Amino acid sequence: MSSTDTVTGHDRSTLTELATSLDRDDPLAHHRDAFVQRDDVRAYLDGNSLGRPLHATRDSLASFVDDVWGARLIRAWDEGWMDAPTELGDRIGRVVLGAAAGQTVVADSTTVMLYKLVRAAVDHAPAGRDEVVADTENFPTDRFVLEGIAAERGVTLRWITPGPDGVTADAVEAAVGDRTALVLLSQVDYRSGRLTDLPAVTRVAHDAGALVLWDVCHSAGSVEITLDAHEVDLAVGCTYKYLNGGPGAPAFGYVAKRLQSRLAQPVQGWMGSADPFAMGESYVAADGVRRFLSGTPPIVGMLAMRDMLDLVEHAGMPAVRAKSIALTTFAIDVHDALLAPLGVSLATPRDPALRGSHVTLEHPDFRRVVAELWTRGVIPDFRPPQGLRVGLSPLSTSFAEVLDGLAEVASVLQEQQQA
Ligand SMILES: *Cc1c(COP(=O)(O)O)cnc(C)c1O
Repeated sequence: MSSTDTVTGHDRSTLTELATSLDRDDPLAHHRDAFVQRDDVRAYLDGNSLGRPLHATRDSLASFVDDVWGARLIRAWDEGWMDAPTELGDRIGRVVLGAAAGQTVVADSTTVMLYKLVRAAVDHAPAGRDEVVADTENFPTDRFVLEGIAAERGVTLRWITPGPDGVTADAVEAAVGDRTALVLLSQVDYRSGRLTDLPAVTRVAHDAGALVLWDVCHSAGSVEITLDAHEVDLAVGCTYKYLNGGPGAPAFGYVAKRLQSRLAQPVQGWMGSADPFAMGESYVAADGVRRFLSGTPPIVGMLAMRDMLDLVEHAGMPAVRAKSIALTTFAIDVHDALLAPLGVSLATPRDPALRGSHVTLEHPDFRRVVAELWTRGVIPDFRPPQGLRVGLSPLSTSFAEVLDGLAEVASVLQEQQQA
């Protein structure tokens, strides 16, 4: 079957018309011009791994060098830098996490923040609660951090093996019990893009007397998050994905207000102490969420995400989520029309309520296909064993770009199949 007579009835020209009309009617389309675009990047389909820079960030970085770092020098610590982890944390909380002020800090990498919060939760658990429930498909760093803590603290890891519906509330309910200290899950699965039911799973964990920690790396800035409303205990997330903080931008950690004074984190440093510049003899934890800090805040790494947060706040998360759903729906339409006939399959749920902002396609040749696509300026990513991830950052991606990129996937696949 050729790509022009598929079951869905979409051929290339009707897809082009559809992309054009979707772009024309997209209320957020104009925001795309706020991002650095280059002719040699035809389709950027990896905004879920590393967001594009904003033009505004060029000015933010330059003026930081000249007017803040260069001008204020060490004085700037007293003029805002010391408060940046909580001030920026509050903004992330308000704009993307559904979290009231005083519960979010920006620091460390996701890996390190995850370690600190899992340790805090495990160490806080009453005697006899010595198990952590997690799933075998979570991002490697999440599983590796748990393995390390299990060895260090004598904690038992109770693994859920997700079925075709991902990590369900029923599966969590079957795994938790009197011995569960913590449930750690990702809200959006990094491979399939499947969304886990945060409200239902949080309730199940709480009913069993456990705390819950959500990794929101792939949902922050793409899916509306409701940490306070659903009484989430702990959360961590990345800022270089849909929050466009740039490579190595620091993570955020959320600790619900009600828990802060009861939790102690394991990397006791001066920045999380009650009075860092007292240069005290021994550690006394700061009040509030500051106690989850350890060392000097990464001020430079916090700059770019501020520009993106401005944009996300201006657009509003409901509109961002609506665009994300429209983009992933269109990507699935293009898959059905152009890629399914070439033997490609869809690994992401068709129901938009069950997915985040990326779509994963599978084919045994995708490792080679992605390598060739990158040389052509079409940039998805490859996740073993055979996944091609199409990450659609809502504010920087157009429908035409999705079509151009996925049509190129079809071309390369055909060329390689014929070679
Ligand atoms: C991207 C990602 C990470 C990355 O952690 P880093 O410490 O920033 O490297 C962790 N967990 C999940 C679920 C991710 O998607």
